[in-house]
Amino acid sequence: MDYVKHALQLLEAKFQREAEVTSRAPGRVNIIGEHTDYNDGFVMPIATDAATYTSAAPRDDRLVRVFSTTMGEQAEFSLDDLQAKGAGHWADYLQGVAWSLGVDKHELRGVDAVIVSDVPAGSGMSSSAALEVSWALAMLGVAGQRHPDKKALALACQRAENEFVGMKCGIMDQLASILGERDSAILLDCWTLEHEAVPLPADALTVVVMDTGKPRQLVGSEYNTRVSQCKAASDALGVRALRDATMEDLEAAKDKMEDIVYRRARHVICEDERVFEVAEALREEDYAHVGDMLNQSHASLKDDYEVSVAELDLICEVARAQEGCYGARLVGAGFGGCAMALVRTEAAEAFAPAVKAEYDRQVDYVSRIFSVKADQGAGLV
Ligand code: ADP
Ligand code: MG
Repeated sequence: MDYVKHALQLLEAKFQREAEVTSRAPGRVNIIGEHTDYNDGFVMPIATDAATYTSAAPRDDRLVRVFSTTMGEQAEFSLDDLQAKGAGHWADYLQGVAWSLGVDKHELRGVDAVIVSDVPAGSGMSSSAALEVSWALAMLGVAGQRHPDKKALALACQRAENEFVGMKCGIMDQLASILGERDSAILLDCWTLEHEAVPLPADALTVVVMDTGKPRQLVGSEYNTRVSQCKAASDALGVRALRDATMEDLEAAKDKMEDIVYRRARHVICEDERVFEVAEALREEDYAHVGDMLNQSHASLKDDYEVSVAELDLICEVARAQEGCYGARLVGAGFGGCAMALVRTEAAEAFAPAVKAEYDRQVDYVSRIFSVKADQGAGLV
């Protein structure tokens, strides 16, 4: 499906307007580096070929009218009266971005706009960041700013989600959507925001998202507990954040903390190391080793960080048993939701139905399994 064409036609059909700009912002899948972001550590996401598109035409007043095909409804608000509806209403992401761009002194204009997307919402691919980035690019584009600073844009979108929508997400999602490169993963330092591309060629490797169908549970409270346990560990170690500690430091300070805090810190410190090991192995095309690291990441998230559940363990086990699977691990906060697998591209077509059949046979949930490609980051099309 040609999403750009679809968006242009829809803008005409809904508002009888011709688009001045159309933006594209991809979703993301994190290859490795889980629960490291809020420890100022390292992550390695790809931007996906699945993306969110916004087509917009400027208005002469301060009104915003926007239709989202994902939501199947239209929202309206005034740029002079931005008020959150609450409970993560989809228009809050858009109002939040408008507010946040205002904080950065951007002059915006009213628009008629449509949003179309093939990023599945709530499936661990960060549809919210794709929405924010796509919307921000369209709003800035209509205001005559076609090449905004990438990091400032990511930070503005994160601020919108943190402070206007009220979701305390890290910076990875927005940066991944903006900095993505085709056939590459992005090794990203969540503290300095330095980043570099690492080869992840689609002809060799396919990233498969495996949604267990089990809704994420307890995420908020468990997430906050992990954040405070990491803080307790870094305090005991006398470092600003766990990204500044090594396993030697941790072993030396083991007696100064509870065992549970020690194990949480061990996950984070080892996971940061795995990010670099995966980057190195990808450069050397040693995909078996990349897969081992993904499996180790899962084991660490399960045993040390304790954020896995039986369904996530099962879907990863089923995945690993398939021909051509290098490795698999849970992704995101855990307690349900999604896992990912790295699969040899030649084997990818047979992989998805095989995992689905076996997993769905063993549990009451219905899985959704789909492949994504590492694609270029957001921009105007
Ligand atoms: P995810 O993991 O996909 O980011 P979130 O709960 O953070 O899940 O964000 C999903 C929410 O973002 C949706 O409930 C909706 O409010 C908003 N959203 C995402 N994509 C779209 C879209 N294309 N159109 C309108 N709203 C969207
Ligand atoms: Mg989100």
